[in-house]
Amino acid sequence: MDRPIYLSPPVYEEHIVIPHIQSGDVYENINKVILDFETCVQEHLETKKEVIALNSGTSAIHLALILAGVQKGDLVLCQSMTFVACANPILYQGAIPVFVDSEESTWNISPKYLEEAYKDCCNKGKIPKAIIVTSLYGLSSNMEAILAFAKVKNIKVIEDSAEALGGTYKNKKLSTIGDYGILSFNLNKIVTTGGGGVLVVNTLKEKEKAIFLATQAKENLSYYQHTTLGYNYRIGHLNAALGLIQFNVLKDNLLKRKLNFNFYNTLFKNIIGVTLHREPSADYVSNCWLNTILIDSSKTGGIDREDLRHAFAKEDIEARPLWKPMHLQPLYNTFSYYGNTVSEKLFNHGLCLPSGSNLSDTDKGRIENVIFNLFN
Ligand SMILES: *Cc1c(COP(=O)(O)O)cnc(C)c1O
Repeated sequence: MDRPIYLSPPVYEEHIVIPHIQSGDVYENINKVILDFETCVQEHLETKKEVIALNSGTSAIHLALILAGVQKGDLVLCQSMTFVACANPILYQGAIPVFVDSEESTWNISPKYLEEAYKDCCNKGKIPKAIIVTSLYGLSSNMEAILAFAKVKNIKVIEDSAEALGGTYKNKKLSTIGDYGILSFNLNKIVTTGGGGVLVVNTLKEKEKAIFLATQAKENLSYYQHTTLGYNYRIGHLNAALGLIQFNVLKDNLLKRKLNFNFYNTLFKNIIGVTLHREPSADYVSNCWLNTILIDSSKTGGIDREDLRHAFAKEDIEARPLWKPMHLQPLYNTFSYYGNTVSEKLFNHGLCLPSGSNLSDTDKGRIENVIFNLFN
């Protein structure tokens, strides 16, 4: 049997050595690994903003909400078409998510419905505190429209770029554009630390507050004293060391992901009814984390998303429907939602395709066979 082909598996070098950690290292050296990793991420992002390494992207979103001043009962505008990790920290804070539909071009938060949601919240007497936008599958939102709106309304923008490391919008690295940026180094992301994330903030003061909160809010005394509720959110030093190694292959991984996109682009060019998701203009550069398609069964002679997914599964090839929008989730379907059916249609007709940095020519051959056998 061939090996299974996954959507986006972790890829480590064959022998993991951790050159940044020596046996007998004392605390200072261990902490230095974390600081080095933060510098490494900051250099990649080509930014003067501050970077805080944490144990997950989810904890980065939680801290961003706290720094943005989101408290119990506050409203947070959130893209509905996203992964649940994006919305859950709103509930961790005891705040209330207000979900917004996507636009057709980027599949990310619709500026039009964002405005509608904001207006309606204000009419009901409550001004939203923050906006969370996701760069789905590595492609940015329309950040120009969102930032312009946020500036007028004086509302903080949290940029969930968990999937989008290496992507850009108008030549700016994703996660450096909003008031707060998030990256994830979870196992399935474009580089991994075996679990980890980053929060990007504008000022040193915010960085210090984030580290304070991420390390149990210990006060600066010889004994342990706590006035504020803290968390255990700092990245582990072994994870940071792994991150330093993985960032060496980021450029290479980005190229491989782009080649995967080119492969699918050629593959689907002549298949009517299948549309590969792509950058809407030269302002957007995706990191091609996952390649995704929409299938219109009225044009494919009745073949739908599930038919293709099952055909892949039979050959031990992983393909998955796009994220199920938050407003359709049992956990979240009682919260407000503004928009139409864009995200719902994406969920019903969209499929994520194998896009790992290790996708081989043999793998591509097997994927090609499934497509040809199903559509011809
Ligand atoms: C992966 C992901 C996260 C969470 O990152 P973790 O590091 O797994 O906590 C958040 N948002 C989106 C859109 C993601 O894909």
